[in-house]
Amino acid sequence: MKTIDLAIIGGGCAGLSLARDIALSLEGKQDGREVTVFEPRTHYENDRTWCFWSLQGEAEDPLVRCRWNSWQFSRNGETVLHRSSQSRYCLVSGADFYANAITTIERADGFDLRLGVQVKSVESCADGFRVVTTDGDYLARRIVDTRPPTYPKGNEAVLYQAFEGIEIETPHEIGDLEIANLMTQMHTDEDGFGFDYILPLGSGQWLVEATLFGFEPGCGSRLSEKLQSCLNRLVPDGDFRCLRTEKGMIPMGYRNPKPESDTGWVKAGTAGGAVRAASGYAYRRIQRWSRECARQFIESGEVSRHPEDSWPRRKMDFLFLRVLRSEPQLAPELFYRLTSRITPDAMARFMMDRASVLDLFAVMWSLPKMPFLRNLLKRDHRARRLPLQKGAA
Ligand SMILES: Cc1cc2nc3c(=O)[nH]c(=O)nc-3n(C[C@H](O)[C@H](O)[C@H](O)COP(=O)(O)OP(=O)(O)OC[C@H]3O[C@@H](n4cnc5c(N)ncnc54)[C@H](O)[C@@H]3O)c2cc1C
Repeated sequence: MKTIDLAIIGGGCAGLSLARDIALSLEGKQDGREVTVFEPRTHYENDRTWCFWSLQGEAEDPLVRCRWNSWQFSRNGETVLHRSSQSRYCLVSGADFYANAITTIERADGFDLRLGVQVKSVESCADGFRVVTTDGDYLARRIVDTRPPTYPKGNEAVLYQAFEGIEIETPHEIGDLEIANLMTQMHTDEDGFGFDYILPLGSGQWLVEATLFGFEPGCGSRLSEKLQSCLNRLVPDGDFRCLRTEKGMIPMGYRNPKPESDTGWVKAGTAGGAVRAASGYAYRRIQRWSRECARQFIESGEVSRHPEDSWPRRKMDFLFLRVLRSEPQLAPELFYRLTSRITPDAMARFMMDRASVLDLFAVMWSLPKMPFLRNLLKRDHRARRLPLQKGAA
């Protein structure tokens, strides 16, 4: 049985980020540590884009491919346009991220990216953990486990953000090239709260997505139809070429279950609490965690979880989700009010976990009070069932 220092289970965003950051920190050093990433995929495709806000004073992620200083929201023909000189909405393409991480990992001594290998189980043993894979067993001193969560009864997310999108090339522009349309055509129907997400990626190139905040993990079954209606509206003559498609589901308000072992085996990424409950954004949180976890691994050989959100942020996010879940018909109005009453930079800071006390106050002030009071008094069965652990994300 091969012995390794760190087994990273899953070579997606969190797993590759961590392996890449450890490799970068050890570059040029004779360290001798063995790190293996286990990933069932046999090859990577350009299967997603990651977007996030970048705030004033922050170094820009070198992988950013598109950036916008303006973004907008709309419902029933009313539009809120945010323009900022300080914050940018940025996009990293999956293809660039994977290529960069894989190149860094492959040139590092002692690093192994095992593609086409699935982890079947992990068992605690005297010397660490026995990792049972489809390609034999490994003995690992530490484990970072990024396998996606399942949603067993009693540990469901509050809402599920499902989306289906297409990157298209058009001979004519279908909107303003300078503006990211983050939530357009906001509406509520029997599936939940829906909107379209439309990003101009360059002249004649657009990412068009139909998005839904639904109630079950499989809530997105009608998204293809919704995406088609959105395309019919944007390109009525159907004159476009499909460059690629993407789809996914992100849990919102998911409580990560108790870790399997107290020391040495941590969950990370979506399963480890990386996703911001109220927004579904995770990329920047994963990058922050990955740098910190890499630093700790190099210094002490230990691995760390995602940091726990502060109590007010957790409470606000869960209350907001509970309102959306129990009164989804209010969602377009809530988002409209929120975006029309706070500044673009306050919004960017709020979304990127950098809100000041004043920003939080502005967010609360922007929203109608009654739905929140009604839901504050209701029993929060989902949030209470699994108390957050100390140190867990
Ligand atoms: C299409 C899409 C678009 C998104 N866009 C954004 C965005 O714009 N901004 C943002 O902030 N967040 C976004 N997210 C949310 C989040 O950032 C991503 O889901 C991100 O990829 C999560 O990283 P992860 O490592 O937890 O999961 P993944 O990247 O999904 O990685 C998990 C890995 O585990 C592997 N795996 C599964 N089972 C096993 C097994 N048994 N053994 C070994 N490996 C296994 C999988 O193959 C996969 O590679 C998006 C999510 C999706 C799905």
